[in-house]
Amino acid sequence: MLLNNNILIVEDEEHIRKFVRINLEGNGFNVWEADTGEKGLEIVRNEEIDVVLLDIMLPGIDGFQVCKILREEFPSIGIIMLTAKSQDIDKIMGLEYGTDDYMVKPFNPKELVLRVKSLMRRMEKPKYNQSEIIIDGPFKIDKYSRKFFKKEKDVELTPTEFSIMKLFVENPGKAFSRDEILNLIWGEDFIGDSKIVDVNIRRLRSKIEDNPSEPIYIETVWGVGYRWKESSGEKNEKKY
Ligand code: CA
Repeated sequence: MLLNNNILIVEDEEHIRKFVRINLEGNGFNVWEADTGEKGLEIVRNEEIDVVLLDIMLPGIDGFQVCKILREEFPSIGIIMLTAKSQDIDKIMGLEYGTDDYMVKPFNPKELVLRVKSLMRRMEKPKYNQSEIIIDGPFKIDKYSRKFFKKEKDVELTPTEFSIMKLFVENPGKAFSRDEILNLIWGEDFIGDSKIVDVNIRRLRSKIEDNPSEPIYIETVWGVGYRWKESSGEKNEKKY
């Protein structure tokens, strides 16, 4: 399944919705609009939405609640939070939300388009209709279906978490700095906080480690960043 370039903006301020629509449509995206979280959820349930741009301060349920519901129902959808307040950023970085990115209002249209494109790149599947599977110890990663398994059990990852796992499994034993991970996953135009790397690593550990407080697969490289453990020799790449 390829992406549809379908973007939903959930935002109660009409002029921001219009501004986003004009800029995204000008770049070939299809845009849906919702002025409340409830309406936004309805649209995601009924349309093939790839990425949701999610305002936080909304009438009715707020963007944080919408984000939680989205992550439960649609783990692999892309979510970019929009915020006007700097104190929201710490909350956005909370483990429970699993947002892929965030933007601080007012944002410039070029940056918006870059961030959406960068997230869509993270979500892309290989274009050929072949499954490509890497097995590494108890883990199995299928790059075509973007599925990740531990001991044959499906582990639901966000688009960003999946991209990080793919990077790790393809480069066992390599120490990545936070900046390298930022550049490789979020893109060089990312201007936010590198804390977003740590938050995603913590979420990943809680999903894939036997004991997340004593991680043995995603190792911390002190003063640098993170490293996927050296392969145990059971690793093999299969192409079907
Ligand atoms: Ca608002």
